Amino acid sequence: MLVKEADLWQTVLGEIELSVSHGKFITWFKTTRLLKVSPELVVIGVQNIFFKQQMESKYHDMIQQTLAKNGYKEAKIEFKIYSSLAPKKNRQQEDMVVVDSHRPSGAQTSSFAGRRPDGNGHKSSIAHAYRPGLNDRYTFDNFVVGAGNELAYAACQGIAQMPGTKYNPLFLYGGVGIGKTHLVQAVGNTVRQRNPQANIVYASTEQFVQEFVDALRFKKNTEFATYYRSADVLIMDDIQFFEGKEKVQEEFFHTFNALYQGNKQIVISSDKQPKDIPTLEDRLRSRLTWGMAIDMQTPDYETRCAIIKTKAAAHELNLPEDLIDFLSTRIQTNIRDLESELNRVLAFCEMRSLEPDLAIATGLLGTAKPRPRHISAKQIVERTAKHFQISIEDIVGAKRDKDIVVPRQVAM
Ligand code: ADP
Ligand code: MG
Repeated sequence: MLVKEADLWQTVLGEIELSVSHGKFITWFKTTRLLKVSPELVVIGVQNIFFKQQMESKYHDMIQQTLAKNGYKEAKIEFKIYSSLAPKKNRQQEDMVVVDSHRPSGAQTSSFAGRRPDGNGHKSSIAHAYRPGLNDRYTFDNFVVGAGNELAYAACQGIAQMPGTKYNPLFLYGGVGIGKTHLVQAVGNTVRQRNPQANIVYASTEQFVQEFVDALRFKKNTEFATYYRSADVLIMDDIQFFEGKEKVQEEFFHTFNALYQGNKQIVISSDKQPKDIPTLEDRLRSRLTWGMAIDMQTPDYETRCAIIKTKAAAHELNLPEDLIDFLSTRIQTNIRDLESELNRVLAFCEMRSLEPDLAIATGLLGTAKPRPRHISAKQIVERTAKHFQISIEDIVGAKRDKDIVVPRQVAM
């Protein structure tokens, strides 16, 4: 039976929803639309090139079969980008400044550490000090994929397979503790595994800033630049820390250009989108959005449960459902906090040779939801004002009436 054109896509989506996970459906299908339909050709609109490639490779057959069931047996499928949302690329308009990146031989394992001249007094040589780099704890295998992170996961896997060729730079942004570092590290670990010769440079932005300052101080600017510009894959974590640091941004801008010109992969994470980092230089901001920017969302309840199960399984433990439910309900946004509560329970049980259960967890963690860790001054003022039933303006204002001074003291 040929389903009416107007209803076709709803019908197809309805059937697909039943056969893929909720996370996959939301990520890949929710934003699709039917652009054109005839018995010979069905054109499906997708958000961007990344979706197009993923849909073609992963879901083409499933869609074709579902269309066939609904009477479109002969139809060829095409995916087209409906571009009202797609960012424009303005590369030509940019003032591209490229700084020569000459790559020293044997730089793969060396690390820039111009913190101080090394202990042997060879002031001109680069000290090979310890620096935190890739941690092999972070892999794609132990990352639980769910609705909020599926897109980021797929994009990271994509670049790990073919660094420098696809989405460059990849920009991941989202709240604290939701797996950004885990994913960008997994990219580095995977590339390194596939190609041990590849020079993977991972740096937290704070580290980049600190090293830059030290390089200026100890006149090691060239070593610093060479180290970062000889990367095959540069991973910069938490780029929001560039905020307000002009010199460092300029240095990174040149690093970016050199790598980009050489088709080297750049992966960046941030807790904000480029447009929400106010003091980012415009030319750098624009470059950050050249490739693909992906918004990571907090994981939903099911994903949080799956994460707990995976972490427990790593300890060869099978936790009771009510305990898993308790933990996933208590902590809803930050996986790092979720992990640390789980670890508290597991460590407690291990020391006493107990099987983890809900009673132990509630005894240890309490039944109330944990307080948010960071309470801003604004929140405090708001709460105090509400409690004393006066206005916020009064609390922060200059009036010295007794019924205002006391709440002001409390807030302070
Ligand atoms: P962010 O960099 O976004 O602040 P992290 O990558 O440091 O967050 O993640 C915090 C912790 O939560 C890490 O230990 C990480 O392994 C874990 N984590 C986050 N998301 C997942 C996930 N989907 N599956 C497994 N572990 C996760
Ligand atoms: Mg992080």
